[in-house]
Amino acid sequence: MSTRTRCLSLSLPILCGLLAPGCDGSELAEAERTPCIAVSDEEGGCQEELLAQGVSSPVPGYRVTTPFGKPGPWAAGYHTGDDYASPTGTKAVAITSARVIEAAYPTSWGAAYGRAAIIQSSDGRRYLYAHLSRLDVSAGQKLSAGQQIGLVGTTGNVTGPHLHFEMRVSPYRYGTDSRKPTW
Ligand SMILES: [Zn+2]
Repeated sequence: MSTRTRCLSLSLPILCGLLAPGCDGSELAEAERTPCIAVSDEEGGCQEELLAQGVSSPVPGYRVTTPFGKPGPWAAGYHTGDDYASPTGTKAVAITSARVIEAAYPTSWGAAYGRAAIIQSSDGRRYLYAHLSRLDVSAGQKLSAGQQIGLVGTTGNVTGPHLHFEMRVSPYRYGTDSRKPTW
């Protein structure tokens, strides 16, 4: 068995180690791992297969590195989303079934977010996927949970590659309508 991909047999279904290189997973809370079914590939590792119960991260295998609400130099005076530091080219996926409102560079939410997608879930919440290097969706498209939206990048105002993942409730204004992302 290869140890290239680590599996964490905490429970069934097995939580596959969708981990950054060099990360042994011990520092990740269970909720930050993406649940998946462990199936052997040719190298004996795990392949990601999302379960019906949902997606645990918009960047599967990566966790929040700069949280919502952190005070700082942002225009709102605090960080209006959760950041997931991850390499350029990492997959970003829909955290729930949703409709694409905008997919552009930039979107109406501002040039600072770079190339971005805004999606809306059935309960009206809107989610922003910002700083992408590539978009794989277009406005009006319907998405299912786990569907790829694009790739992590460095477009817009960034100091390094990450996904800025932001949630807003109607009427979706910057700052006042931003909430800790949940789904
Ligand atoms: Zn951010």
